[in-house]
Amino acid sequence: MNTEKVISRDNDYILHTYGRSQVVLAEGEGMTARDADGKSYLDFTSGIGVNSLGYCHPAWVRAVADQAATLQHTSNLYYTAPDGKLAKKLCRRTGLDAVFFGNSGAEANEGAIKCARKYSVDTYGESRNKVITLVNSFHGRTLATLTATGQDVFHHDFGPFPGNFDYVPAGDFAALEKAADKNTCAVMMELVQGEGGVVALDADYVARVAAFCREKDILVIVDEVQTGVGRTGKFLACEHFDLHPDIVTLAKGLGGGLPIGAVLMNKKVADHMKPGSHGSTFGGNPVCCAGALAVLDEMDDDFLANVNERAAQLRAGLAKLPHVREVSGLGLMVGIAFDDGIKAADVRAACEKAGLLVLTAKTRLRLLPPLILTADDVDDALAILRSVLEKCV
Ligand SMILES: *Cc1c(COP(=O)(O)O)cnc(C)c1O
Repeated sequence: MNTEKVISRDNDYILHTYGRSQVVLAEGEGMTARDADGKSYLDFTSGIGVNSLGYCHPAWVRAVADQAATLQHTSNLYYTAPDGKLAKKLCRRTGLDAVFFGNSGAEANEGAIKCARKYSVDTYGESRNKVITLVNSFHGRTLATLTATGQDVFHHDFGPFPGNFDYVPAGDFAALEKAADKNTCAVMMELVQGEGGVVALDADYVARVAAFCREKDILVIVDEVQTGVGRTGKFLACEHFDLHPDIVTLAKGLGGGLPIGAVLMNKKVADHMKPGSHGSTFGGNPVCCAGALAVLDEMDDDFLANVNERAAQLRAGLAKLPHVREVSGLGLMVGIAFDDGIKAADVRAACEKAGLLVLTAKTRLRLLPPLILTADDVDDALAILRSVLEKCV
């Protein structure tokens, strides 16, 4: 495979919606990705939080290959075993009661908004459909989830946008109290804003929002598309906040690299969704569900203990690096703010040259390593980051 050829063909035929780095990734194993020229990279991106078990984990490969060779798709007109098996495990681990499967984070959030509106409209009447989200949130790229996304930069060019979304600053309870009215059906939030700069919400704020919503029967939707499935050191980030939402969405890390999204909800919400209320041709695809089951099977107490230990090691190491002003986020969802004058995008590019793949979020560097990383992987990443940052002035 020729790097230049792959890039120029892509530029000719793929819509130019992504700012890509000039690297062609060709294969991967565990924590390592290799490019088309044979150069190896230590991967601290996991495909933006997707490859939770790293590249081509043997148990995941076996589960996916076996399912592909057995039954790859049926449509939702028939029952298959893997989706029910996965849904049961997700409900057991989260305490929620029912699952709808789709194919992405945006589709999961779209489904969550529909489920919330259905409950509220059925229960309180047609006008109770307002959804409050937080400033700087990110919920996806479909029209409704783009509207839900609390960043003005996304609210141009593609209108008209769906109505009755409102935005309040994260952490400002008084603003939320003021925005919530008799037509409010749900508050939707990320507990750690990912694309918005890796910023965790304040626990006290989350508790006040939850209590307020419970009192008014406003549904709480937690977008765990990025934070869920072990990323923060617990299966759900909600567990850090002792939060029991009505609806939780999952996607990125769930399938271990295959496209799957899930809307998890309590019985109160689930009871309003009837045959025909919602659907997805690919939803609950057996191969994607088999991949997700392999991820969940790996994710026992020892696995999560490693996530927490590596997160502590990584955060302590990062705090000691030159030019690091703040380390944010939760668990293995890490944001790094640098001293003035040091641009995260430049650090990212220099890391890539030095053989370490990392991400950015707003002005911060962002690390989302596969959850299988070892102490040595953390040390190796810290060494590369140190060498890059020592060269910055
Ligand atoms: C990535 C992300 C989404 C969108 O997921 P897609 O699979 O790209 O549609 C939604 N919410 C959060 C919090 C995300 O991080």
